[in-house]
Amino acid sequence: MYNSKLKTQNSKLNTIMAYGTLYIVATPIGNLEDMTFRAVRILKEVDLVAAEDTRHSRKLLTHFGISRPLTSYYDHNQNFKGNYLLERLQAGDSVALISDAGTPCISDPGYQLVRDAVAAGITVVPVPGPSAAITALSAAGLPTDAFVFAGFLPNRAGKRREKLSSLTGEQRVIVFYESPNRLLATLADMLELFGVREVVVARELTKIYEEFVRGPLPDVLAGLEGRQIKGEVVILVAPSDAPEAPSVEDVPKLLQHCLEEGLSLKDAVKQVALETGHSRSAVYEEALRLKGAG
Ligand code: SAM
Repeated sequence: MYNSKLKTQNSKLNTIMAYGTLYIVATPIGNLEDMTFRAVRILKEVDLVAAEDTRHSRKLLTHFGISRPLTSYYDHNQNFKGNYLLERLQAGDSVALISDAGTPCISDPGYQLVRDAVAAGITVVPVPGPSAAITALSAAGLPTDAFVFAGFLPNRAGKRREKLSSLTGEQRVIVFYESPNRLLATLADMLELFGVREVVVARELTKIYEEFVRGPLPDVLAGLEGRQIKGEVVILVAPSDAPEAPSVEDVPKLLQHCLEEGLSLKDAVKQVALETGHSRSAVYEEALRLKGAG
C-alpha cells in the first residue's frame, strides 16, 4: 500500500520534473538600478523570455548582458501564444515572463498564462521586484495596514464614475493606476463622488522627476490644474473614515511646536504644510501672523 502510493507520487513527480518552470519576473518601473540580481540570473538561464513588447524588452535585456531568445506575449495574442508557451514548458523548456515595466500580471498580461500553467501542473515561480502600486504606497504616507488595488479605471467617463461610486464606502486606502491625460478628470470625479479626502498622486516613480503631491483632494486638484502632467501616475485615496487633516485652526499650534523644537521658520512652515496638507503659502501667512503676535 505504502509502496504503491510512493510509486504514484514518484511518477507524478517525474512528470512534473520533466516540465520546465515558468518564472514571473519583475523588472524596473523606471530606474534600472532596481533590477534584482536574481532577475538577471533567471533571465540569463531560461530557454525563452516572453515579453509584452519585444523591442522594448530587448533594450532592457541588452543593458544587462542577457541574450536569451525573446517572444511576444501581450493582450491580443495571449490565447494562441499562451498555448505555445505551455507546449514549450511541457516539453521541458523554462520560460520567463516579463512585462514592459514592473510586475507581470499586475495590470499587465500574464494572469491567464499563470492560471493555465498551474492547471497543467507546471511550477510557477515568482521573481519579485518593483511594482508601481507598492512603490507608491510605501512612500505615500497613507495607512498601509490594508489597501485595495483598483487598477485602471474604465476609459469612458460614465463607466469611470460608476466604478468610483461603487468604491465610496471603501474603508481602506484605494490605489489606482491612471494615465496622465485623464488624471485631472479622474481627480475631479473623485472630489465629486468621494468628497474631501486625503489623496496622494505619485508621479514618475524611481525616475528623475519623481514627485509626490499630497494633501486634501481639492488642494491637490487645484495644484495640478494649471500644469501639464507628464509621465506615469498612481493615485492613492485615503479611506473615508481616516482622521481628518488638521484644520487651519491647528496650524498655529503645530507651528509653535515646530519652532519650540528648534526648527527654522522656513522648515517649520514646510513641515506643517506637509503634515496638514495646507499650502505652504497659507501656513507661511499663519507663521507671519504668529511672529507678529509674539
Ligand atoms: N505591471 C506594472 C506594475 O507592476 O506596476 C504596471 C503596469 S500598468 C500597464 C502601467 C501603469 O502603472 C501606469 O499607467 C501607471 O499608472 C503605473 N506606473 C508604472 N510605472 C510607474 C512609475 N514609474 N511611476 C508612476 N506610476 C507608474
